[in-house]
Amino acid sequence: MKRIVIHYGELSTKGRNRKYFQTRLADHIRYKSRKINESVKVKALHDFMHVEWEMASYETMIEIISNIPGISRFEPSYQVDKAIDVITQKAIDLFSDIDIQAGDTFKVVARRSDKNFEYDSYDIQRIVGGAIDDAFPMLDVELKKPTHKLTISIHQEDFAYLSLDSYPGMQGLPYGSSGKGMVLLSGGFDSPIAAYLMMKRGMEIEMIHFSSPPYTNPQALEKVKKLTAQLSTFGMPLKLHNVPFTKVQEAIRDHVHDNESMTVMRRIMLRIAEQIMHERKAQAIINGESLGQVASQTLTSMSVINEVTNTPILRPLIATDKTQIIQLAETIGTYDISNEPYEDCCTVFAPSSPHTKPKLSVIKSLEDLLDIDTLVAEAIAETQLMTIDESYLTDSIQEFEELL
Ligand code: ATP
Ligand code: MG
Repeated sequence: MKRIVIHYGELSTKGRNRKYFQTRLADHIRYKSRKINESVKVKALHDFMHVEWEMASYETMIEIISNIPGISRFEPSYQVDKAIDVITQKAIDLFSDIDIQAGDTFKVVARRSDKNFEYDSYDIQRIVGGAIDDAFPMLDVELKKPTHKLTISIHQEDFAYLSLDSYPGMQGLPYGSSGKGMVLLSGGFDSPIAAYLMMKRGMEIEMIHFSSPPYTNPQALEKVKKLTAQLSTFGMPLKLHNVPFTKVQEAIRDHVHDNESMTVMRRIMLRIAEQIMHERKAQAIINGESLGQVASQTLTSMSVINEVTNTPILRPLIATDKTQIIQLAETIGTYDISNEPYEDCCTVFAPSSPHTKPKLSVIKSLEDLLDIDTLVAEAIAETQLMTIDESYLTDSIQEFEELL
């Protein structure tokens, strides 16, 4: 049997909700483990969780566990027979597999719940520690802050478990433990990162994308589907609502002065998003705005746009610099997709000099020129809903390869 020990981190401070958080996390681990096509046991204990399986490699499971929110750190734990020689040999094998640097130190910590085992914890530490010291002359013992910590647990059952060092988890809270929000997903760099951050914080999400064919290329929608697929690697399969926005854009182009068009367009996006949010029983709208980045993201602009709704609008990137956003995009695998050149509806209809300080009264009088209720209702009625999971990425790559 193979095992990974998972430490919850922040969720362990959640008092009576703890069970709920643990269940969400266990469900997510089970769901993500489907990939390995074998039975995986997930056991929630008070301070940690055990994931146990037989066949798949440790590497495969480590990759799966690293992309699940709500885990602070985890340790692969190796099962061996309960005999001191076997334990010592496994310890040496584990150290042989890591990249030991000059100046590295180590410590062995043994725990024994089987009091009948022939050696006590102190003996085990001394024997195994001594063997490691002999086998790796460049490693010195350091008890306070060792570079590598080997933990040995002698259980009541027939086996002993060894683990060397922890891996960092994704942090955050278990997926789906913090309510549900609708992400306004463009094809840009920012909104996928906003989505990622809220998923990491435990929110279940669905995507809303506005597209304006034939002004926008089908490739722009393709890009948004790929971003959704990439984001689903951190959650569950994700729903994407593709809202046809052409009629709204044309109405704005024909009736609203260029400088104010962006504000009106954003207000209509928000009205549509809010209605879809209610239909989907979500509680918030999430976008990728960052203060001062573009004209629609000044405080004045944001408050005039925000005026159409009381719904909480979450802006996880509000205080984030573009360089940080780009870095995160590279880390989570959305950078290359966002970097594809196809433009979305906002870029295609972008005014040459949008107002950074729109006036609410002016905007409202301009909106009177449009039949907003009908435009909104029509867009919602024609919205397409699709579900996308990570297999979409490999499938679209295969299609591409066939074309070559
Ligand atoms: P992004 O990189 O996410 O596109 P941006 O810096 O280009 O952001 P804007 O184009 O002003 O900024 O968009 C601000 C936010 O509005 C986006 O982060 C996104 O949440 C939302 N948004 C913009 N265009 C669309 C669209 N076509 N469909 C859905 N949401 C959109
Ligand atoms: Mg954009």
